[in-house]
Amino acid sequence: MADVLAALIEKYRAIAELTQPRCLGGCPEPGGCCRPQYCLLAETRARQFGETLPTQNHPTLRYMGPEGCVVPPHLRPLCAVHVCEFHVRQDSAFGEEYLALREAVCRLEERLGLPWPEGMARDYWE
Ligand code: SF4
Ligand code: SF4
Repeated sequence: MADVLAALIEKYRAIAELTQPRCLGGCPEPGGCCRPQYCLLAETRARQFGETLPTQNHPTLRYMGPEGCVVPPHLRPLCAVHVCEFHVRQDSAFGEEYLALREAVCRLEERLGLPWPEGMARDYWE
């Protein structure tokens, strides 16, 4: 199972890297989708992986550091895969890469058999 976990971590890293520029550069409210309850979901997920997360000094988002979120993407799955549907629909190259990575992440999640990431739909168009 170690290879499945390594693949999952890598796919989450890749999808977070793909979506981040859209959320930072192409958004009227960069990072505006963060919510305290999503930080709590990351905390739950980290516990399932036997990890603890380093709390930051942000007034509402406990894992938002001065350089951005400090949680590795595989421990904040909902945040890592989230991007406006606008980007997926309007940029076909981005949309194809995004949907392929998202499908890969979901397949690996299923293989790993951990509790499904809360709030994350199995199918993007659901
Ligand atoms: S998901 Fe959309 S609204 Fe949210 S930060 Fe990213 S681009 Fe902005
Ligand atoms: S875990 Fe990170 S990306 Fe997710 S809501 Fe909290 S600060 Fe934002």
